[in-house]
Amino acid sequence: MDKENARFATRCIHAGCRPDPTTGAISVPVYMTSTYAQTSPGVFKEPYDYSRSANPTRTALETNLASLEGAKYGLSFGSGVATIDCCCHLLNTGDHILLCDDVYGGTYRIFKRVFEQMGISITRVDMTDHDATRAAFTDKTRMVWLETPTNPTLKVIDIAAISQMAKDATGGKAFVVADNTFATPALQNPLSLGADVVSHSTTKYLGGHADVVGGALMVNDDDLHERLKFVQNSVGAVPGPMDCFLTLRSTKTLHLRMQRHCENAAKVAGHLVEHAKVDRVVYPGLDSHPQHNVAKKQMCGGFGGMITAFLKGGINESRGFLEKLQLFTLAESLGGVESLIEHPGIMTHASVPAEERAKLGISDSLVRFSVGVEDVSDIIDDIDQALA
Ligand SMILES: *Cc1c(COP(=O)(O)O)cnc(C)c1O
Repeated sequence: MDKENARFATRCIHAGCRPDPTTGAISVPVYMTSTYAQTSPGVFKEPYDYSRSANPTRTALETNLASLEGAKYGLSFGSGVATIDCCCHLLNTGDHILLCDDVYGGTYRIFKRVFEQMGISITRVDMTDHDATRAAFTDKTRMVWLETPTNPTLKVIDIAAISQMAKDATGGKAFVVADNTFATPALQNPLSLGADVVSHSTTKYLGGHADVVGGALMVNDDDLHERLKFVQNSVGAVPGPMDCFLTLRSTKTLHLRMQRHCENAAKVAGHLVEHAKVDRVVYPGLDSHPQHNVAKKQMCGGFGGMITAFLKGGINESRGFLEKLQLFTLAESLGGVESLIEHPGIMTHASVPAEERAKLGISDSLVRFSVGVEDVSDIIDDIDQALA
């Protein structure tokens, strides 16, 4: 059986993993080595000459990640933002990037504070507004970066529509990167929808246990892969073998975890909608979500574990709620088995200027739930006691 091309759950567990040829060890060993013996100058066991370039534990992870996204190639990195850095290094001074307006705070920061300084211009646009997006392309646009669902306002961007638009507007000169961190390949495969590259912070759902920071890029195009791999090796933001091992162990249960994250989040969202102390709930699975139909079209098997809610009241009410929660941990990050909650305005999106936050609707009353895989009744009880 071709395990690399089996169904999703099977690929989670088997892709990239085979018993170690020397011992039969069933788990991929943690190859703690920086370099490899050569039998004669330049003669080594391809591709292993030096661990920045390649490491067998990383190869296993990269093969597994590629398979999950239905991609030909996977590249893993020391963090999610290192994947953005890698993609931006394919651009030249004078090039233009189109970025969706609501993104992870650190994504905004690297584009705005690192690459804009280097002469690459950036336009941020609400990519749920197709007319505005079409108008934002310039003859210098070389990369389109989108995140869906977005962070933290959970807008759902139509990946197929934006990918097609990028091809039409730039004559294929721009490549489209979709940050699939929130949805994960268990729910959404951007490459099959026309994106050129998928980016992940594996720190979140792929890692899933809040114990390792990492990132990944998946790509089908041979040339794009060669160029990204060249930058990865040249810039060197690669993960260590222990981090690769942990992430690879985690992806084996991705399908199970995502199923429960989705079930729990759907129930929690439904509960919040009914709650008197909650003003508004944003969850792609709700009929009331402005892009619910797009979500139904491009996400399959569920709508993810992230919920954004606007509480009644202001900063004091939000702060009181966050302090009173007991099962939820107040922390940045998301996507782990444990439920986390945060206040984007003060925490993850503090690097987004206040007026930009206001424009995006990231207000004092907005809280972001990362619903874990605990018993959902305990999750709901905790929310209720903290809102009481
Ligand atoms: C966390 C996150 C990132 C950045 O990843 P790191 O692993 O923290 O560097 C990028 N995109 C999204 C959507 C994220 O949630």
